[in-house]
Amino acid sequence: MLSEGKGIIIVISGPSGVGKGTVVNMLINRMRDAVLSVSCTTRAPREGEKDGKSYFFISRNTFEKMIAEGGFLEYSNHFENYYGTPRFFVEQKIAEGKAVVLEIEVDGARRVREQFPENSLLLMIAPPSREELVRRLRLRGTEDEELIARRLERADYEMSRSSFYDYTIINDDLEETVENILKIVENRRRGIK
Ligand code: 5GP
Repeated sequence: MLSEGKGIIIVISGPSGVGKGTVVNMLINRMRDAVLSVSCTTRAPREGEKDGKSYFFISRNTFEKMIAEGGFLEYSNHFENYYGTPRFFVEQKIAEGKAVVLEIEVDGARRVREQFPENSLLLMIAPPSREELVRRLRLRGTEDEELIARRLERADYEMSRSSFYDYTIINDDLEETVENILKIVENRRRGIK
C-alpha cells in the first residue's frame, strides 16, 4: 500500500549547480500526488523563465506588503533579493493530503521545520565534491566568475548549516538520486499518523 493521501512538505535544498531543478522536476513527474510550490521573488527573470511557472516575479513593494500580511510561510533575503513561499497554496495542498515540493535554501527550510515538525521532510542535495560543483557551475556558462564565486560562498554557508536536515543525498547519478528520494519519501509518509 502506498502512503499517498498523507500531506507532506518535501524541502529540497542544495547549492546552485548541484542539479536541484532537475531532481525536483523528476520527482514531480514520478509522484502522482506531488505538486510544486512556486515561490515569489524580487529578482529579475532569467532567460526562459516564465512568470507563475519558475517564480512569481513581483516588486519589492508587493513582496513587503505580503510579508506584512503574513502571506509567506517563510521567506529569506539573499543574493540581494527576496525569495518566499506563498502560505496559502502549501497549507491548502497539505490539507488535501498532497506532497508539496519546495525548492528553497537553508534558512527557509528551518522555518518550515519549525512550523511543520511532523509533516516535513528536509533533503539536502550535495555535489560529489566541491571541485565538481565548480565544474558544473562553469559548464552552465550563464554566470561570470564573480557570481560563481558568490554562489560558491553561499554553497559553503548552506552545507555548513545542513545538520538539521533529515538526509543529505549526494547527486552523483541522477537516476539513483531520484530513486533514493522516492524511497525516503515513501518511508517518511508511512510514519505520519
Ligand atoms: P535562484 O535565484 O538561483 O533561482 O535561487 C537562489 C536560491 O534561492 C536557491 O538556493 C533557491 O533554492 C532559493 N529559493 C528559491 N525560492 C525560495 C523561497 O521561496 N524561499 C527561500 N527561503 N529560498 C528560496
